[in-house]
Amino acid sequence: MKLSTRSRYCLRALLEIICNGEDNKPIALIKIAMRQNVSEKYLEQLFIILRKGGIVKASRGVKGGYILNKRPEEIYLGDILRLTELSMETVSCKNCDEVDDCMCRPYWDDFSHVILDYVDSITLKDMYLRSVEAGDKKVEGETTAPVLVDEIMRLKKERNAVLLVHNYQRTEIQEIADYLGDSLDLSKRATQLKEEVIVFCGVRFMAESSKLLSPHKTVLLPRLEAGCPMADMITAEELREMKEEYPKAKVVCYVNTSAAVKAESDICCTSANVAKVIESLKAKQIIFVPDKNLADFAGKQTKSEIIPWYGYCYVHEFIRLDDIKEQERLHPQAIIVVHPEVRPEVADYADYVLSTNGMVKLARKSSVQEFIIGTEEGLVERIRRENPSKKFYLPKRKPLCSNMKRTRLIDVFHSLRDMKYTIELEEEIMNKARESLEKMIKIA
Ligand code: SF4
Repeated sequence: MKLSTRSRYCLRALLEIICNGEDNKPIALIKIAMRQNVSEKYLEQLFIILRKGGIVKASRGVKGGYILNKRPEEIYLGDILRLTELSMETVSCKNCDEVDDCMCRPYWDDFSHVILDYVDSITLKDMYLRSVEAGDKKVEGETTAPVLVDEIMRLKKERNAVLLVHNYQRTEIQEIADYLGDSLDLSKRATQLKEEVIVFCGVRFMAESSKLLSPHKTVLLPRLEAGCPMADMITAEELREMKEEYPKAKVVCYVNTSAAVKAESDICCTSANVAKVIESLKAKQIIFVPDKNLADFAGKQTKSEIIPWYGYCYVHEFIRLDDIKEQERLHPQAIIVVHPEVRPEVADYADYVLSTNGMVKLARKSSVQEFIIGTEEGLVERIRRENPSKKFYLPKRKPLCSNMKRTRLIDVFHSLRDMKYTIELEEEIMNKARESLEKMIKIA
């Protein structure tokens, strides 16, 4: 498929019509032509095509102006492209044309279907909201896009939904949160809320935990591919093999695991309660998954022998002691606060090793004015906002979780509009995984 400039000018002109006002006020082609720096005659030809295709209609005569013929959410990008492009066929290579059984052909065909599905899933309204999101940032230097945020708020009400946002999310997502916090606190809170739909802005295992604790609610994860690389480092199958190797050991899993791994564990833990959870088991041997650094941190506080799985969070693993020491040299008044997922030598060097919630509380209560923080930058954005008179420094190589940053405002909008992506879990896994979560909640 080839796209020409015709499509580009048509789309931009249609977006101009939307920008002209909510009440679908007619806009003269001359006005659009001037804004788009294109000839009016050329636009006239394009609008004849759009009019015949039922996308726009002329109001008060052709000279009067144009309005949309349908609502922007009813006009699909695919419909516009089919009108403006001469062909939407797969572009075949010469070889495909000449050789009937070309081995690449099925893949090009599949690729073409994926593209067509994609353009048929996007509406003019989506495009408008996306451009507003980008434009607002550019023009005003703000982090939120008012139009998109208004749409999200409207849908939230309509769907009876609540927005739970993890501390590591983008600032603009944090700003629209109903509740902001760490994964477990958010999931526990959701059980006390009256809303029927939970939109979890975080990564998959967090949305799963929310579903485990609120099985009758609809839990949505706005980006399907937002996963946690650390959680994905161990599967239920691998954990079963480990259990066979150490049949007498009890299994503690970090909350950053899939529901299937939780289902194979005796109990769950968080970075804040790991030592307490292990002590509660009174076991000689503990299999601890998946984070080797949290395992080391826990091992130093308990008498049990810890058998770790060698997983790690790449964001915290790459916070180096040298980076911390460099910040310390630049800011000698600051205290060093790190997350337990950091390497042991960094944790040993820090003044405090705290969960994200622990960091939020310390920043608020402490009389100290400067902090070197060893965790994902999203949390630091939050504590800076909440404590404007204090100073917070990150390691020079900013710890940033790309999975946590995947969710954008437009994804939250799509999630609420289309009720996607719903978290579904097998009943047996749900019941077992919930048990290990609830055991922890009881003792912690
Ligand atoms: S910050 Fe680390 S633990 Fe958290 S989602 Fe990203 S990779 Fe997973």
